[in-house]
Amino acid sequence: MNKLLDKKTLRKFLIINGENVETESYSPLYSPYSGELIAEIAMGDEAATKKAIAAAFEAKKVIGNMPAYERAEILENVVRILKERTDEIAEIISTEAAKPIVFAKAEVARTVETYKFAAEEAKRIHGETLPFDAASGGVGRIGYTLREPLGVIGAITPFNFPLNLVAHKLGPAIAAGNTVVLKPASQTPLSSLFIAEVFAEAGLPAGVLNVVTGPGGVVGEALIEDERVNMITFTGSPSVGIGIRNKAGLKKTTLELGSNSALIIDKDVEISEIIDRCTMGAFSNQGQVCISLQRVYVHEDLYEEFTGKFVEATKKLKLGDPLDPETYISSLISKKELERTLSWIEETKQSEAVVLTGGKARDNILEPTIIANADHCLKVSCQEVFAPIVIVNKVKSVEEAIDYVNDSRFGLQAGIYTNNVKNALYATKNLHVGGVIVNDIPTFRVDHMPYGGVKESGTGREGIKYAIEEMTEMKLVVWNQG
Ligand code: NAP
Repeated sequence: MNKLLDKKTLRKFLIINGENVETESYSPLYSPYSGELIAEIAMGDEAATKKAIAAAFEAKKVIGNMPAYERAEILENVVRILKERTDEIAEIISTEAAKPIVFAKAEVARTVETYKFAAEEAKRIHGETLPFDAASGGVGRIGYTLREPLGVIGAITPFNFPLNLVAHKLGPAIAAGNTVVLKPASQTPLSSLFIAEVFAEAGLPAGVLNVVTGPGGVVGEALIEDERVNMITFTGSPSVGIGIRNKAGLKKTTLELGSNSALIIDKDVEISEIIDRCTMGAFSNQGQVCISLQRVYVHEDLYEEFTGKFVEATKKLKLGDPLDPETYISSLISKKELERTLSWIEETKQSEAVVLTGGKARDNILEPTIIANADHCLKVSCQEVFAPIVIVNKVKSVEEAIDYVNDSRFGLQAGIYTNNVKNALYATKNLHVGGVIVNDIPTFRVDHMPYGGVKESGTGREGIKYAIEEMTEMKLVVWNQG
């Protein structure tokens, strides 16, 4: 029997100050693929969230006084334990998120790297010395800056990378000497509870990391409103993110939000060499990736060849049980999401767009879907689709493609395949996004690079070093030597 289905471990509690904390109510957690009950999750409320904040507030002294090498050691221990327990956590991710096990294992491998980067960066947090005598009034002074932890960080995370996107909050926060109250997505709390257990085993003092499961509207609001919380770091949908920003006032916020990421294919590209990357970019994790490949703009000279080969490769992808190692595509996170995406596909059928492959549900799994000639007003083009749906449109030039890419509320990452240096340089200058990827898909990400968006894709950057900058504040020290 799946370990998750063991009755004794079915009930999951809040973790506050190193203790399991019961709540008045519990909510059943079902597998999005099989519909099986996999756990009963404690529903934190405002009072429980305040208790977690109080624990985190108290623990500031403990982590704040801990030397960098000890914080790095704890993060190194997390790396070691995660490596030892890879199969177990991959199965948890796969079960709670319907993420095909090959991608769940890849997520664990990336998470190991993320915590490794955090362990390394913990030892590199420093300020700079200042030449005070550059100002006539500064002669006789010496000074420097320090980077100090912010204090208590409220971390709110999404369902789609329930281990690694949590690592992008916990890794830099703890490396920099902050404490955390983590509110994971309601569909994927098990990965967060697992990592809290790993941190405790790794030697993290009680109260530094607290996990409050429960409804976003309740737990999230309590975190945003509490004055003891110094920063909200949020990854999730633009609508929730914008709401948080509006309520946060002067509280620091980092928002990692959604997108409708695009790829440009220039006329001189060898199509057969890029098909695997495009398939992965559009369909891995059922397209539920913030930088999933959603829009492709192909030069008219290569359009027929690209669509033909892309459709052929897509038809070979295996749909099924996320725990089957052969599965490439499984269920979306909920039935509601399946219905939404089917209705968006239906909208395209009322237009001049053509569904080249997919477009239907097979049991509860949406087939990987390619849509040609989609008008930019259609939802599958201008909104974030967050599903295995990609549009492919014909363009006459790279300039025209860039105009389409920029005609978006979002701007996370964009890709361009080209062998023409002038076109590549033109694209890097003119694409209005957080990151331009030359000769790869916009879905490219490794965990130390600066990552974040412009426009409604968010504010602030992740990538451990950059997140540490967001999670620390500068203090100036000036000595009068006179
Ligand atoms: P979501 O619905 O916005 O939820 C994200 C988190 O916010 C969850 O923990 C959710 O809790 C919580 N939440 C909901 N309402 C809230 C409120 N009023 N106040 C505070 N917190 C609240 O997003 P999702 O469906 O989990 O994730 C998909 C979205 O995340 C997509 O838009 C995707 O592009 C984006 N994303 C962005 C990045 C990036 O780095 N830019 C990475 C991954 C995903 P509940 O689950 O309890 O509702």
